[in-house]
Amino acid sequence: MTIQTPTLVPAFDVAKVREDFPILHTQINGKPLVYLDNAATTQKPRAVIDSQVRYYETLNANIHRGVHTLSQRATDEFEGGREAVRQFLNAGSTREVIFTRGTTEAINLVAQTYARSMLKAGDEVLIGEAEHHANIVPWQMLRDSHGTVLKVVPVNDAGELDMAAFEQLLSPRTKLVAIGHVSNALGSINPVASIVALAHAAGAKVLIDGAQSVAHGHVDVTALDCDFYAFSGHKLFGPTGIGVLYGKAELLEAMPPWQGGGDMIRTVSFERSEWNDLPWKFEAGTPDIAGGIGLKAALDYLATLDFDGAIRHEQALLAYATERALKVPGLRLIGTAREKAAVLSFVINGLHPQDLGVLLDSQGVAIRTGHHCAMPVLGRYGLSGTARASFAFYNTHEEIDHFFAALAKACEILA
Ligand SMILES: *Cc1c(COP(=O)(O)O)cnc(C)c1O
Repeated sequence: MTIQTPTLVPAFDVAKVREDFPILHTQINGKPLVYLDNAATTQKPRAVIDSQVRYYETLNANIHRGVHTLSQRATDEFEGGREAVRQFLNAGSTREVIFTRGTTEAINLVAQTYARSMLKAGDEVLIGEAEHHANIVPWQMLRDSHGTVLKVVPVNDAGELDMAAFEQLLSPRTKLVAIGHVSNALGSINPVASIVALAHAAGAKVLIDGAQSVAHGHVDVTALDCDFYAFSGHKLFGPTGIGVLYGKAELLEAMPPWQGGGDMIRTVSFERSEWNDLPWKFEAGTPDIAGGIGLKAALDYLATLDFDGAIRHEQALLAYATERALKVPGLRLIGTAREKAAVLSFVINGLHPQDLGVLLDSQGVAIRTGHHCAMPVLGRYGLSGTARASFAFYNTHEEIDHFFAALAKACEILA
């Protein structure tokens, strides 16, 4: 993920982009919606919504093996989604693009197949302290069933991964490093390129949880040289129910399948079964066909945008919101990494985040409160929850003004 430095370029046309997202024009509790919960899920452009209607109205059929026209059309569109993902990630081949339900299922797939077959008792899995539960729990389950060791790289007070500690923890026993690209709770961007290089030098493979990064910067898995990369469609302006595991072909080839059933086999007899080729070996059962087509619609939509402009706009929103936040009495920012994506996590002295969330909602402002599926790192700050505003490229400076006005009102009521 690279964030390019601003040069002389036309401003990002946020007003025009907002026209593409119908939900942004709704009212909540009698107020215009200010949607600042993008780290939980993003809103969908009209093109994605239309793709779902079009699929069910004109294309619906089960895919693969169908001889009839509709089945072939649906197959072509679904597999077209895979090619769109390949291009988006700059993967070498569609064989390396596995469709899953989302990031969570992608990480579990690696834990249940790659790690279960390749790691032995005593082998170490290294994760970061600020990981999402989806990148913690599968490794605990592996530890408990297989005797692998789970080690955690701490973050500093700013929420940055302690790279010196990372290098110290890396050893010949480290077989897998599983690390978030961007923290959903703190916004910190991890230096994944250095992490991959160091891990590879130590002989470890690397899985990157990209759930929070794909919507906020360019990702190139070939340049990164990571072994696995996971993300969810719904955090990338696509539908829920579809996500991706990218994996290097030679690793996927060597991994046993996970779920068994239709589509993942070539032949089945009662004595034995033969597995299908990549990527279908890991896609048992009827997949989320509409989801794959919707994800392609989201990627096609993003390709029409000035994505670099969108990233710069988000960074400007983050800088503006951070500056405003620092002026709010009693407000403490949680996550102040130098390299940050558009997440503003905070607590306010003496106020419960949930009360803030409810009072903001009554003013049309949607933020998230609670542990953000990252209980361990909040514990590090002595907290059980924060309030979190998270931005997408369709948010505006005016919305941030609304948010701070609503926050001031909430603080007044709760004081
Ligand atoms: C949302 C998120 C996940 C889980 O994604 P799902 O879509 O719920 O599977 C994992 N990691 C991070 C960093 C996330 O933000």
